[in-house]
Amino acid sequence: MIDRYGRPLEDLRVTLTHVCNFSCFFCHMEGEGSQTIEGLTPEQIGLVSKVATEFGVKSVKLTGGEPTLRRDLAEVISTIKSTGVREVSMTTNGFLLPAIAGKLKDAGLDRINISLHALTREKFKEVTGVDGLDRVVIGIREVKNHGFKPIKLNYVLTKRNHDEAKKIIEFSEQNEIDELHLIELHPVGLGKSSFTYHESMRNLEEEIARMAVKSEIRSKHFRPRYVLPSGLVIEIVKPYANPIFCAGCNRVRLTVDGKLKTCLYRDDKEIDVMYALTANSLALEERLELLRHAFEVAISIREPNFKYMMNLESQQA
Ligand code: SAM
Repeated sequence: MIDRYGRPLEDLRVTLTHVCNFSCFFCHMEGEGSQTIEGLTPEQIGLVSKVATEFGVKSVKLTGGEPTLRRDLAEVISTIKSTGVREVSMTTNGFLLPAIAGKLKDAGLDRINISLHALTREKFKEVTGVDGLDRVVIGIREVKNHGFKPIKLNYVLTKRNHDEAKKIIEFSEQNEIDELHLIELHPVGLGKSSFTYHESMRNLEEEIARMAVKSEIRSKHFRPRYVLPSGLVIEIVKPYANPIFCAGCNRVRLTVDGKLKTCLYRDDKEIDVMYALTANSLALEERLELLRHAFEVAISIREPNFKYMMNLESQQA
């Protein structure tokens, strides 16, 4: 399904909980704030996923808070898979992976992104608030042992950890990580108050481009991708510096409190689907019909964020 700006809907990003065992100083909290409330049940997430597939969604990404804190995570994954979604992936801080990686694989999880913002113990603690580097590194090895592929690492570049970037590239190469995502700080959630730590990606990207044997631009978010001689793929995620980032957005989000959220940056473009998810007096088909209508509305109100709009306006002026 294409929106008014020609952007397809292909991906559903589901926030499973606002609770987290880390406290990264820049956390955008998926644009939802951090109020602790009970998340949606596996059945409710499954209903939204099922309808999402009817509108072209092929992949579901689980996020949080920290998704691995959900005790029913395996059930969430298997329920989503049973709706016909092609790929279920998860972004995690990796701390609990050593204990649960196998269970998640068995439940049908296809892919994992592990956030890794530093490789020195002290710096890791400074960024995440937790002395957990060793466990996260074990978690990364554990997902490899369980056959997850590709394995992707997420690193958010800030003034507090920019000196870790090269180490993370080397670590990725040495540990045969498939992809490393270098992410620019988003001014959302705690990312707003910590935006003074924003660090431009320009120099780092230029250096990577010089080393690369191949490069391309992905249609999703118009993210540049570089292949290093080692085979490591580095993807650059620049929501702030890339004015056409939002023009390549293919997502709708499902929030912890049951809203279809059409943009990370905005709270006004949301549709509350809680009634469809909880109205036990309605037949299943009626609830699905309500959800279909909600998706139609969501697609009709999706729009690229302010930077792209400002650029359009300045081009027209
Ligand atoms: N706790 C999980 C984790 O650490 O991956 C999932 C939630 S976290 C909000 C999802 C991803 O967003 C992580 O890769 C995290 O590093 C990234 N992230 C969080 N805040 C950000 C910000 N202000 N700017 C850019 N990326 C951010």
